[in-house]
Amino acid sequence: MIHLILFGPPGVGKGTQSQRIIQHFDLLHIASGDLLRIQIMNQSDLGIKAKLYMDKGELVPDEIVISMIESILSSLDGKNGVVFDGFPRTPPQAEALDGLLKSRGEEISALVALKVPKEELVKRLESRGLTSGRADDSSIKTIENRLKVYDNKTSPVIKHYSEQGKYHPVNGVGMIDDVSKRLIDIIEPIVEAI
Ligand code: ADP
Repeated sequence: MIHLILFGPPGVGKGTQSQRIIQHFDLLHIASGDLLRIQIMNQSDLGIKAKLYMDKGELVPDEIVISMIESILSSLDGKNGVVFDGFPRTPPQAEALDGLLKSRGEEISALVALKVPKEELVKRLESRGLTSGRADDSSIKTIENRLKVYDNKTSPVIKHYSEQGKYHPVNGVGMIDDVSKRLIDIIEPIVEAI
C-alpha cells in the first residue's frame, strides 16, 4: 500500500493538493485538522478538549491525535493507500505512525514537503480567514503562533524521515495546477516502485 505524508506549514496548500493527489492515485485522505473540526462540530469530549488548543494555534496533545488516527487506520481495508495531511506534526507522532503502520506490515512510502516563503503563507492564511470561518485563521497573532509552532515542533519531523531516505521537497509557489504537476511527478516513480 501507498502511505504518503503531504507535509508543510499552515497555508502551504496541503488541503488543496491532497485532493488532487487522492484523485490521481485513488487514495484515502486523512486530514487530522478536518477530523478534529468534525469532533468540534459534534461537540464530542475529544472535540471540546481539542478546540482549546486549536483556537490558540497550539498543537492538540499527541496522545489525543494519535489515538484518533489509530482508530481511522483500523477501518482502512480495501483502499489503495493513504495521504496523511497535517499528521504527523511532532516527532513522537511520527514514531507512533511508524509503529502503527509496522504492526500492519506497512510503512511510510514518502514525505513530500511543500515549500512556500513565510510572507506568502501569512498572506494566504489571512485571506483564507476572510471566508473560512476558522478562529485560527482570523487573527494575525494566531497565524504567527501557528507558524512558530510549525518551526519549533513540526519541522523536526523532516529529519525523522530524511534519515529514512524518504524526504522529498517540492516548490509550492505558483499556479495550483503547476504545483500539482510537480507533486505528481515526484510521487509517480515512488508509487511505481512499491
Ligand atoms: P493548517 O493547514 O492551517 O495547518 P489544519 O487543519 O491542518 O490547518 O490544523 C488546524 C489545527 O488543528 C492545528 O493548528 C492544530 O491545533 C490542530 N491539529 C491538526 N493536526 C494536528 C496534529 N497532528 N497534532 C496536533 N494538533 C493538530
